[in-house]
Amino acid sequence: MSLSTTRADAPWAGNGAQIPIYPILDALSDAQFLATVRRLNDKGLADPDGHILWTGALSDEGYPKFTLAGVSTVAHRVAWVLANGRDPLPGYTIDHECRTRNCINPEHLRELTMRDNALAGRSPAALNAAKLFCDRLHPLLDGHPNTYIRPDGARGCRECRVAAQRKSRARRLVAHHVAAHDAAVARGEKPDAVVVHVGSRKPKTLPPLPAHLPPFDAVEVA
Ligand SMILES: [Zn+2]
Ligand SMILES: [Zn+2]
Repeated sequence: MSLSTTRADAPWAGNGAQIPIYPILDALSDAQFLATVRRLNDKGLADPDGHILWTGALSDEGYPKFTLAGVSTVAHRVAWVLANGRDPLPGYTIDHECRTRNCINPEHLRELTMRDNALAGRSPAALNAAKLFCDRLHPLLDGHPNTYIRPDGARGCRECRVAAQRKSRARRLVAHHVAAHDAAVARGEKPDAVVVHVGSRKPKTLPPLPAHLPPFDAVEVA
């Protein structure tokens, strides 16, 4: 058997080629096998979130590169095969359930069909996790002062949250005044028109709407 190590055959080349790992591991001598496991352990760094992050070389896509008996593969795949004692089934791939591509913790990996894997990477949660900016282009970066972690674990934008709170407070305030105005009218009183502060400190009194609205272009803007 000859094993090609060209880039086209590398799992991160994106052509779907998945070289079976188990026969290679199985063919190693005991000393070679131990050296391989040690190499995997030495380059894995446990982090507080439970990931085991790869400190070795990463592919352009951010996957942990690993060479096994001269064959280019990825470290998380080797870790999964070691933990499960077999290669993934035909048509299946190893997916990072933790969405951390350089993590090699076998407990964070799962066997998925290629299609499910493609879909998992495109779920709204996955897309949100990959976002670097909110819809209004404020930064959404781990550790950035504008970014907070929402109760559901997703990243949120502080600036947008403050704007939303301000808007909902203003809406509640207007609703409160309108309700008070309507209640006064219902009691037969003649209350002042509701005054809404828009932007500036200067109050802007909204004139009562005419019974018949003139054509739009006939409205004079004060
Ligand atoms: Zn992980
Ligand atoms: Zn924002």
